[in-house]
Amino acid sequence: MKTTPTTELSHLKADFPILDSGVHFLDSGASSQKPTPVLEAMERFARTSYANVHRGAYKLSVASTEAYEAARRRVARFIGARDHNEVVFTRGTTTAINTVAFGWGMENLEPGDHILTTEMEHHANLVPWQMAARRTGAILDHVPITEDFRLDMDVLEEKLGDHVKMVAVTGMSNVLGTIPDVSRISHLAHEQGARVLVDAAQLVPHRRIDVNDLGADFVAFSAHKMLGPTGIGVLWGRMEALEETEPFEGGGEMIADVTLQSATWAEIPHRFEAGTPPIIEAVGLHAAIDYLDAIGMENVFAHDLELTGIALERLGDVPGLQIQGPLSLEDRGGVVSMTMDGIHAHDLATILDENDVAVRAGHHCAKPLMRCLGVAATARASFYVYNDVSDIDALVKGLRRAGELFGVG
Ligand code: PLP
Repeated sequence: MKTTPTTELSHLKADFPILDSGVHFLDSGASSQKPTPVLEAMERFARTSYANVHRGAYKLSVASTEAYEAARRRVARFIGARDHNEVVFTRGTTTAINTVAFGWGMENLEPGDHILTTEMEHHANLVPWQMAARRTGAILDHVPITEDFRLDMDVLEEKLGDHVKMVAVTGMSNVLGTIPDVSRISHLAHEQGARVLVDAAQLVPHRRIDVNDLGADFVAFSAHKMLGPTGIGVLWGRMEALEETEPFEGGGEMIADVTLQSATWAEIPHRFEAGTPPIIEAVGLHAAIDYLDAIGMENVFAHDLELTGIALERLGDVPGLQIQGPLSLEDRGGVVSMTMDGIHAHDLATILDENDVAVRAGHHCAKPLMRCLGVAATARASFYVYNDVSDIDALVKGLRRAGELFGVG
């Protein structure tokens, strides 16, 4: 049995002060922890360079604006964007998807048009499309998952046709860990003239992406799942797709001119950033990307996958435990959802917490997927750079203890 990942990153644990308590933190899929360089970058900026951006003629505001725009360029470089103006800062993945569902959807969807999504979406990539469909008369359709927890590509191909105007798909399921083939989906969708949005909230933190290779038109993700702060996320849009999109929020910062009756929009991306943006958070995201890039995203993904492989192997021996997700590591990331015969997921998580193991329990904002799996909830362990085999040991030990307490097995 393998006990040590070859991509050993556990020395990084020391960079994450919150882990000093000894907690086995296995809930990075919900929100990751922040390393000292990110915490320090934000504090240093707040102490020395903070002011509102894009407005002041004074030195502090110029420095602050430069830091904010440097973060935009850093994000662009990280995801392979050709033009940093294709990077829009939002409040998070949810706001990024709403920006497209409303800003693009209201302009481009007509009664009878189809929006195609999937059975494994987070509510953030489902509810905005339900709202857009209701307002425009478009029809919301979905692609099911197969018995082995993959996206059913045959059905996707069948459902793609002239009438599909938007394919909104997850880059990696936050419940199953499944990574759909987004490049292929984008290719197929584009052949039919549809636009593609990727909910990359779980993908970008863990795997190197190049938005051009991915081929989608819109990509959304959140800083807080990639070692950065809450309150900031990214909507990347191909420039021509952003040009088809109307701002969905109005206010300061996003205008070129305003009269009492009307307004014209600022250039892209500023027209999508109404109000005072998340400035300190942008500095934090910049530092988080620097940190991840110093590790190397290939190493981050290899590490996640090795831990996932070890976890799947060991969890397979726990009596009464089912894995709700692919058992092979192919096209999969470091999220492992579990159910145990006769024990509610919340009870599992509570017993694990008594062993200082932090996992998430519930429907994971994916209620349609829970129905499809035939479960009310799962307990979910998710891995990131600071995890190591000791976290898996503690998880397995806690699960065995839960099984014993409930007489499973
Ligand atoms: N999409 C997926 C796949 C997620 O896992 C999450 C968060 O859990 C979101 C969207 C929503 O992200 P946020 O709450 O940062 O907007």
